Amino acid sequence: MAVDLHIHSTVSDGTRTPEEIVATAVQRGLYAISITDHDHVAGVAPAQRAAGGDLLVLPGVEVSTDLRDAEVHILGYLVDCHNEPLLAKLAEVRARRVRRAREMVKRLNSLGVSLDYARVAQIAGEGSVGRPHLARALLDQGVVGSQAEAFRRFLRRGGPAYVPRYKLSPAEAIALIGQASGVAVLAHPGLCRDDEAVREVLQLGIGGLEAYHTDHTDFQTEKYLRMADERGLLVTGGSDSHGPGGPIPVGVGSVDVPDAAADALVMWAKDNGGHIMAIG
Ligand code: AMP
Ligand code: ZN
Ligand code: FE
Ligand code: FE
Repeated sequence: MAVDLHIHSTVSDGTRTPEEIVATAVQRGLYAISITDHDHVAGVAPAQRAAGGDLLVLPGVEVSTDLRDAEVHILGYLVDCHNEPLLAKLAEVRARRVRRAREMVKRLNSLGVSLDYARVAQIAGEGSVGRPHLARALLDQGVVGSQAEAFRRFLRRGGPAYVPRYKLSPAEAIALIGQASGVAVLAHPGLCRDDEAVREVLQLGIGGLEAYHTDHTDFQTEKYLRMADERGLLVTGGSDSHGPGGPIPVGVGSVDVPDAAADALVMWAKDNGGHIMAIG
């Protein structure tokens, strides 16, 4: 068995619905997953309904924060998916994502690329809109030959159509997750600017480290496992799968994460009042 605690669905910029992700996870014999959409918890309940008793689906969300000029992603596990302040803040962040995506379309237009925001909105659907949706729209319109090219030419951080988006500070995100009864975990620390930044965020009250991640080398995984052990932090991990058809396809369950990671989260919930179920 294995677990995958970092997966994106169509509720944000993934290409598969929560139900499809559950079906894949069950088919691959996974023990537990978490749907961790950007700024949205709406995928958790449908995934839990689809899972029935076949798979443990833990509540999750991924929040991007700014630490000075660097981006730091924070995962919120075991949150109460009905917590009003959490839902209100995530809704505000998503509304700002829409404004930012419109801004990026304008930039593309001024670069001579003809693209309508309506097309992007159609691709994004109800979910939180992000650059992958713009990349898909650009591919659709034949402006680029691949989504990777869309990022390379236009959308990458600092690229000609890039607009930074509104982000919470790490402290705000950690507080938001905490008041919703969840535990804040530093996502893919290996992608943080450096370990100084990692240590700085840890001091703000992070409860766990995502030691296992698609983009981590074995060396990094070992390093973050040690760091978590030294500080008594939870260890999590996942594929960060966005589904097939994205710029960087990674499969659900493709990173080796021990079952103990999910068990420790369940224990944490029992000991600290975290939420395991989003449905009643
Ligand atoms: P956003 O939250 O709108 O800034 O978009 C971030 C998402 O875009 C990430 O979660 C990745 O899925 C994707 N992404 C970011 N940079 C790249 C890149 N250089 N190539 C492909 N996908 C990327
Ligand atoms: Zn994403
Ligand atoms: Fe991330
Ligand atoms: Fe992610």
